[in-house]
Amino acid sequence: MILPTDIHAHHEPPMPGMAIVNADPQSFSPREGGWYSVGIHPWLVKEGITDAQWQALEHLITDEKRIVAVGETGLDKLAAAPLPLQEAAFVRQAQFAEAAGKPLVIHLVRAADELLRWKRELRPSVPWIIHGFRGKEVQADLWIRHGFYLSFGVRHQEAALRAVPSDRLLLETDENEAAAIGGLYRQAARIRQVAEARLMETVKDNVAKVFFKR
Ligand SMILES: [Zn+2]
Repeated sequence: MILPTDIHAHHEPPMPGMAIVNADPQSFSPREGGWYSVGIHPWLVKEGITDAQWQALEHLITDEKRIVAVGETGLDKLAAAPLPLQEAAFVRQAQFAEAAGKPLVIHLVRAADELLRWKRELRPSVPWIIHGFRGKEVQADLWIRHGFYLSFGVRHQEAALRAVPSDRLLLETDENEAAAIGGLYRQAARIRQVAEARLMETVKDNVAKVFFKR
C-alpha cells in the first residue's frame, strides 16, 4: 500500500495512491490503488444541496474504503452563499466525518471565529485539518492550540511553516500540478532546516495517524 505524501490534490497523481484526490461525489470513479476525499465545497453551497446529493455523499463516506477523508468542506466569507447556509452544510459534513471516523479537510477564508465556535460546540474526535494554510505564525499557533492539523501548499508563510510542530504538519498540492509535491517537500525541508527524507518520514507518520488509523 502506498501512503500519500500529498494530502489534498485536485489532479490525479502520476502513480495512484501518492495523493488524496478531492473527488466529485456525483461522479466518483476511483482508480485502483487511489485515495480520495469527498465533500461539498463552500463555493458550491449557493446552488442548494438536494436530499439525493446528501444521501449519495453520506453513502460514499460511510461505505467507500478508498475515501479516507471528508471534504473539502468549510466556511468562506468571500463565497456567494450566506454564511448560515455554509455553516449548516459544514456541520452536516462534520457529522458524517465523525460518524464514519474519518478526518475533515477544511477550506477556511475569513471565518476563524465561526470555525472555532463549531469546534467547541461539536467537540470532534476525528482530526480537523485546515488545508491550504496561508496564515501567519501567530494564527498557526492558535489553530495548533485548538487541536487542528495544518496543511501547507505552495503558497504559504515561511514563519508559519517553520513554527508548526512536527506532529501536526501536512503538505499538499491543491490546485497545482501533482508533480509540484517534490518541490514543496524540498522547500519545506529547507525552511524547517531538516533533511528532506526526515521530513518525508514525519509527514508520512502524520498521514498514517490521521487518514489510515481505522
Ligand atoms: Zn482544494
